[in-house]
Amino acid sequence: MARINDNYTKLPGSYLFSDIAKRVTAFTAANPDRSIIRLGIGDVTRPLAPTVIEALHTAVDEQAVAATFRGYGPELGYDFLRQKIVDVHYGRLGVKIATDEIFVSDGAKSDTGNIGDIFAADSVVAVCDPVYPVYVDTNAMSGRAGNYQSSGHWDRVHYLNCSQENGFVPEIPGPGDPVPELIYLCFPNNPTGATISAIDLKEWVDYARRHGSVIFYDAAYEAFITEDLPHSIFEIEGARECAIEFCSFSKTAGFTGIRLGFTVIPKELKINGVVLNSLWNRRQSTKFNGASYLTQRAGEAIYSEQGQREIRETIAYYQNNATIIREGLLAMGWSVFGGKNAPYIWLKTPQNLSSWDFFDLLLNKAGVVGTPGSGFGPAGEGYFRLTAFGSTDNTNMAIERIRTLF
Ligand code: PLP
Repeated sequence: MARINDNYTKLPGSYLFSDIAKRVTAFTAANPDRSIIRLGIGDVTRPLAPTVIEALHTAVDEQAVAATFRGYGPELGYDFLRQKIVDVHYGRLGVKIATDEIFVSDGAKSDTGNIGDIFAADSVVAVCDPVYPVYVDTNAMSGRAGNYQSSGHWDRVHYLNCSQENGFVPEIPGPGDPVPELIYLCFPNNPTGATISAIDLKEWVDYARRHGSVIFYDAAYEAFITEDLPHSIFEIEGARECAIEFCSFSKTAGFTGIRLGFTVIPKELKINGVVLNSLWNRRQSTKFNGASYLTQRAGEAIYSEQGQREIRETIAYYQNNATIIREGLLAMGWSVFGGKNAPYIWLKTPQNLSSWDFFDLLLNKAGVVGTPGSGFGPAGEGYFRLTAFGSTDNTNMAIERIRTLF
């Protein structure tokens, strides 16, 4: 008889967004005349840049003619896109990356989820708490997380507490602490909107090099950085020997629907002499048939001067929303984090409400939907996430409604 991967049965179930949806549906059924403003989802709302649309149209037309038709492409990405990533994305940061260190994919979710394939099944993993749930769930699926505890933690995962006290930036494990082999870091952070300084990131890089650990650096939100902060872990000396970086076109250029991302594995990154770039190359060439030609042409388009101008305008639009939320709530005397170099605003719930009690209050009394912080891990209890990806009108209205309520 066939047997299943039992690790899947240990997963607690992804109740967060379905719970939110259920409560919103019940509310709208009971209050059909009340308008709802959704500042909970992490999806973008602005359309794709005109330059991207033009590139997509051109690529579609190429597919209609035998001479320019493209079938299977290179599994690791077309050179026209990898070269642009090298020249423009990393070039502007003064970071040297070779084209064959870049692996183009259908997004950062797949890559952050799949990267565990090339590491030992019993590796010790560290994640932040609160955390983007994909890191934890994918390790649980491969059996690396152990067993789920009633505390909301997995018994084999090493949690790095992120709190108001440490500015939501995890501290380096102390001398007696277990040494994680794989360390997930994400800055600017989802859900807290926290950023990391070059000095703090250097400490993580030094720690990883001292212990032979590998850092998985998720830079999905780097485009939202406006202050002098690292956009890439490869701006940090020594990172090429200990880090893998994940990037996404989703929030940078609104590609959440059309799907595109890339992962960078420097050739210096080795474990016992084995080059991880070669392992991931082997993994991707076997299990992945490449991002679509159309999408890669669309991705290439964001690196033209016009493309850069257009995506910057959209990012500025969301940044302005983030400022509206952040400053609106700060003016009410609330404890508010993120929203400065990030599209996420993380707030301490007023009156010490639990994350879900605050969710219900906001939904029922103000018609505003956010995300309970407890859904991102036990350390998120008592916090709440709002996103800047709505329209500016709705964002203003949501803040006005919250102000009226409190
Ligand atoms: N990484 C983080 C931290 C995210 O928040 C998200 C999406 O919300 C992703 C990765 C997924 O990116 P992509 O759309 O490229 O799969």
